[in-house]
Amino acid sequence: MLAGDRSNIRFVQVALDVKGWIARPPKVDEVRPGRCPACAAPSRPAGGALGLHGHGLRERHQWGPVEVGGVPVLVGILLRRYLCRSCGAVAVVGPRGLVRRRLYSAGAIALAFALYGVAELAPAEVRRRVSPLRIVGPTAAAGWASLRRWSRAVRTRRLFPSVRALPAVATARQVAARAATTLAAYAPSSAKVPLESAAFLGASM
Ligand SMILES: [Zn+2]
Repeated sequence: MLAGDRSNIRFVQVALDVKGWIARPPKVDEVRPGRCPACAAPSRPAGGALGLHGHGLRERHQWGPVEVGGVPVLVGILLRRYLCRSCGAVAVVGPRGLVRRRLYSAGAIALAFALYGVAELAPAEVRRRVSPLRIVGPTAAAGWASLRRWSRAVRTRRLFPSVRALPAVATARQVAARAATTLAAYAPSSAKVPLESAAFLGASM
């Protein structure tokens, strides 16, 4: 099996959040999955050789604040890779809150939805609070393509599928508001925080 065969790569998230992961990156034995996520072979068979081998690190970038109220940053995260001896699959293990194929974290997208849909801020202001990029010039006030893309992805259930479907006439702001309130409900109940913070926390769970 080729290691470069992307169809045979499985992502596994652990309970650790991004902040904890980068503060003390886990060692190879600390986040080794118990079983291969592809074929379910045990990673540590009793008396046998390791089923899942450490297979190096892979850098992944994540955009947005890494904690509630934090400034937006671009953070480099070293994900751990494991190779299954039985089936050749590669398990990539990382912290919770990452969204596959998206630059921004789940928390950052939820924060953007709350600021746009509930606080009703202008897209340029939402971008200023969520994006690590400082955009200047005439296009800076013209909206934010990411916001439109995320709303579309929620509408078509490709992002945050727990959000209840909205009627086709719903605006992007209405989609964002429902996504933000839905995600906020997943925040730990001890968190007595503004909705935008609750949405960030709930999406990061
Ligand atoms: Zn396997």
